[in-house]
Amino acid sequence: MEIQYVIINFIILVAIVVLAGRKTIKRIFGGRLEKINKALDEAEEIEKLEMPVFEPVSQEIIEDTDTEEVLKAKASVEEKINSIKAFGEREYSEIHRQMIEDARKELFSVMKENVVKLFSYEKYAKEIKALDAQVVDTILADIRLTDGDMSYLKHHDVLYVTVTSAFPLEKELVDKIDKATTELLDSVGGKTSLWVLEDNTLIGGLKLRIGDTVYDGTVSEELYHFEKNMNHEPIMDDDTVSLLIQEFTQKAEEFRPKIHKYQLGRVISVSDGICWMDGLADIMYGEVVEFECGEKGMVLDIQQNRIGCVIFGEFAHIESYSRVRRVGRIASVPVGDALLGRVVDALGKPIDAMGYLPYEKRRPIEFKAPAILDRAPVNSPLHTGIKAIDALVPIGKGQRELIIGDRQTGKTAIAIDTIINQKGKNTICIYVAIGQKETLVAEIKEKLQAKGAMDYTTIIAVPASASAALQYIAPFSGAAMAEHFMYEGKDVLIVYDDLSKHAVAYRELSLLLHRPSGREAYPGDIFYLHSRLLERAAHLSDELGGGSITALPIIETLAGDISAYIPTNVISITDGQIFLDAELFNEGQRPAINVGLSVSRVGGAAQSPVMKKVSASLRTRLAQYRELAEFMQFGSDIDDATKATLEAGKRLTEALKQGRYSPIADELQTVLIYAVSEGYAKNVEVKDMERFEKELYRFFEAEKAELSFKVKSAKKLDDTLKTELNKALDEFIERF
Ligand code: ATP
Ligand code: MG
Repeated sequence: MEIQYVIINFIILVAIVVLAGRKTIKRIFGGRLEKINKALDEAEEIEKLEMPVFEPVSQEIIEDTDTEEVLKAKASVEEKINSIKAFGEREYSEIHRQMIEDARKELFSVMKENVVKLFSYEKYAKEIKALDAQVVDTILADIRLTDGDMSYLKHHDVLYVTVTSAFPLEKELVDKIDKATTELLDSVGGKTSLWVLEDNTLIGGLKLRIGDTVYDGTVSEELYHFEKNMNHEPIMDDDTVSLLIQEFTQKAEEFRPKIHKYQLGRVISVSDGICWMDGLADIMYGEVVEFECGEKGMVLDIQQNRIGCVIFGEFAHIESYSRVRRVGRIASVPVGDALLGRVVDALGKPIDAMGYLPYEKRRPIEFKAPAILDRAPVNSPLHTGIKAIDALVPIGKGQRELIIGDRQTGKTAIAIDTIINQKGKNTICIYVAIGQKETLVAEIKEKLQAKGAMDYTTIIAVPASASAALQYIAPFSGAAMAEHFMYEGKDVLIVYDDLSKHAVAYRELSLLLHRPSGREAYPGDIFYLHSRLLERAAHLSDELGGGSITALPIIETLAGDISAYIPTNVISITDGQIFLDAELFNEGQRPAINVGLSVSRVGGAAQSPVMKKVSASLRTRLAQYRELAEFMQFGSDIDDATKATLEAGKRLTEALKQGRYSPIADELQTVLIYAVSEGYAKNVEVKDMERFEKELYRFFEAEKAELSFKVKSAKKLDDTLKTELNKALDEFIERF
């Protein structure tokens, strides 16, 4: 097969193009850097080198290509690239990405040109004919009617069959097709009508369409798949290119006309990011479709005579009555270790200028949640490092804990602090930012990086400016990425920031799809939307590896109204909520956790026994204090007991205050809360509480490490431990 030689030649060409993407480099750097310009001028010499000739294709040309001259040129260009590299990793990677993209485009157009040329050569005419006969045989061996065809035949008596070829087909081949398809339809009592068309854009080969299904054995289809695969490969350096050449040579040697099978449909109308289509008889909910212009969409609505999908990219290029094809898979995203440290969009494409994402696997964004028997009870803690949470609303691995509160009450701050606290704790974190400001996401990334937390974190960023479709799928993409790790037996923390904006995006899509709207104009299935998302958080049984996904969804309320539709929904789906109070926040009580309204329904089981004991009465004491404090605002004489409660309460609330980015180890939290609730701080001025806390930590870290360890690992708070703690605290107070 001569095609293989064209392709090989052309890959060698690309090796040169990739290395010498000089125009791009020049364009980006402009006249800015003289030094580079000089280097580039040298590189330009390469252009003058003789490129491999493509016609007529022969073995010798391939052998010729790696002349010394070319090799030398390659080496010199590589040197240039290295010097550009010195100007900064990031800048370089952006340039490189651009270069590769350009090279790919170039590569593909050259390849196409040459393939077209090859197929128009007279001397290959005989071979092409033989190829056609071969394609027809392969197709006819494969054809069958789909469920969609059968249901079409129930309402219509004729099923259309179209055969389209690049060159006029021999009459006997047409007859053969006619006979086979008529027989096929006869067998189910239907009729067929055969259309024979010619289309030279197919380059070579032919395709047969029965109903909505296409059996495609054309060269253009082959090119389409080649281009797609190529875009997955990182053409990074010379090594990768030669590897690619090797692989491709092997493939080309075994080249046989292959039949690609897919279903086609037609665009009826496009507006506001929604597309209505017909055809695509057997399509399923959630499947990906691809438009002629290359944009993709996801099916979200299936009606009897039309199919609705959301469009991921630019819908301006999609024309009515253009073709749309099934990609044959549910929407999926890349998963795996490659994603750690990266910022990606809702489809898993990197957006952080760190270049190509070398992923190995993809995972469907929608996936069945683990069944009851696959789950284990929540039993190990996920420490947030935030005192008020770890003591009062402890979170366990596999739990779903809602963070809810008005705008600007520190919701995101809690999630980010929790991520930072997972450092060195073998927990992978995924932060899904839905509808947030881009600057905020950039800030978060920087902060995580500074704290060394990006090493185990992936950020999925879908800014407010992104389409509703992308905002809608973002949390599902995040869940898919998390699931991959969970099923590998790892622990994952996923933050959905926030699901209110997600609900709004879904409402927008639903209204555009003309679905009936319910309460607050949200569609009826919005509860199902969030429950199927959050059900995917789980702690797996040991047989399944014991991995876990802990989910922290965030919901924004309006004026503290937790009885609105979306808040009540998500509250009832999750295993508890951390309610942030705007009033407390403004009073300076930060994190502004409202103790009365916050609960954790399962996390208690995962709390360390000592902490559990120490914090047991905390909630009632705080509630008592707040009640009294409110009452005391009206001012009156107080008896000594009330005064004592008030003073103790003041110190307790003060002790629960915590700044951002300063997670505290669990045992230190325990000691602090023990000390304050046992009255060790009663003679400390409220304004000195911060110093008290800091010094206490230092004292235990430096001098009582053994005792700290005991607090952390003890099975219960027994009298000996208590005595030891009391003794240490007495010692501390004496010095304070
Ligand atoms: P939004 O509704 O805009 O998403 P949010 O509820 O997520 O807001 P954050 O962005 O986390 O709130 O925090 C709001 C502001 O409060 C930020 O400026 C943050 O720095 C500050 N803040 C949050 N938590 C604390 C804290 N514990 N101590 C001091 N400042 C805090
Ligand atoms: Mg926020």
